[in-house]
Amino acid sequence: MDLRERFFNLLDSLSALRALSQINLERVTEAELLAEALDELVRYQNIDHCSVFRMEAGVLRCVSGRSMAESHAEITGTPSARATADSMAFKPGEGIVGIAYSSAQLQYCRDCSQSSEFIPHDSTVSDMPGSLISAPIKMGDKVLGVLNASHPMAEYFEPWQQHTLSLFSSCLGQILYNHQMLHELEILIDQRTEELGKSLEEANRLRKRYEQLSMVDELTGLHNRRFFFNEAEAHISRAIRSKQPCSLMLVDVDHFKRVNDQWGHLVGDQVLAAISRILMDEARGGDLVARVGGEEFVILLPEAGIEGADLMAQRIQERLTNINMGNSHPGIKLTVSIGMTELTKISDQKLTPSQLVDQLYSQADQAMYECKREGRNRRIRFKEPVDD
Ligand code: GH3
Ligand code: MG
Ligand code: MG
Repeated sequence: MDLRERFFNLLDSLSALRALSQINLERVTEAELLAEALDELVRYQNIDHCSVFRMEAGVLRCVSGRSMAESHAEITGTPSARATADSMAFKPGEGIVGIAYSSAQLQYCRDCSQSSEFIPHDSTVSDMPGSLISAPIKMGDKVLGVLNASHPMAEYFEPWQQHTLSLFSSCLGQILYNHQMLHELEILIDQRTEELGKSLEEANRLRKRYEQLSMVDELTGLHNRRFFFNEAEAHISRAIRSKQPCSLMLVDVDHFKRVNDQWGHLVGDQVLAAISRILMDEARGGDLVARVGGEEFVILLPEAGIEGADLMAQRIQERLTNINMGNSHPGIKLTVSIGMTELTKISDQKLTPSQLVDQLYSQADQAMYECKREGRNRRIRFKEPVDD
């Protein structure tokens, strides 16, 4: 081989290695990576056929193959006969491929027809390679697979080609390893991201649930006492600012204990839920309805004076008296005591919104207890005590 030829061979070897190093590992699968690597090898080296075997479940199987005939077949549409040879599987130590794998050393079978170690494929006797190089694909001490290059001619491969294939396969080992690491890392990141997403979702769900629980009464779905007192302050402030009336009523079920005693606690719960639905139904958009005790409810009515509150209380009384708990409990009869009050002009000026809420609540409570004292099943408006 003259110097010029050597120079071009060297150039081809370097080109194949350079092409290999330029494969973008991020955007290819392992199969695509191997196919691309073999394409480059066939392009820059005068090799008839090359393939990669990987260890799968104890046997070496061809995972990628490329041949000049195949490149040609792609153009002509003729299937490659060599493809059948690639369907072979070798155990470690078996055939040239198996020896390269278990010895971790490059094997050069100079004349396949004369070799006792070469295992021909049944249907490819006519297609049998003349010479074959099997180079282990290594990453450190670990053999990841075997790179094969063959040619129909015996004694085809020259030492420089053996060197190139040895270099090519060790670069391929490093690249395969990097690819594997990159994708394992990606999978790990995806897994962690998914786990993190789920945890965040769960945390959000719990936070919402906690927020709801801290504002909502679980049995009836109405706001609870705490929420009512916080929210009522804002309503009162608004009423004062806009010089609008505002009233408040307390609804306490009469002798509710008897409902529980007669029908059981569970039915008692259902009655409380039914009462809540009626209260919500009677309330207007801006009204604030809450369950403030076992069988005690409060309604704040912004923009309604005591007359408006009384009308609403009347409707509530009528509906609760006629409450229908269905065929299973037709005997349930209810009455309620309703105490009412309104924001007066005098109290507006003296007290803070928070104190005003307490005052309205206490006034309605006094009126409600008056109902009880008077025999229940009634509604009473709070009256300021008259000074003597
Ligand atoms: P009064 O007319 O004086 O208001 O009589 P009452 O029986 O309604 O009032 P009391 O305060 O003596 O009893 C309230 C009853 O409400 C007793 C309790 O068992 C019942 N209760 C409170 N909370 C619940 C609840 O969540 N579910 C059920 N089923 N009953 C409840
Ligand atoms: Mg009661
Ligand atoms: Mg009560």
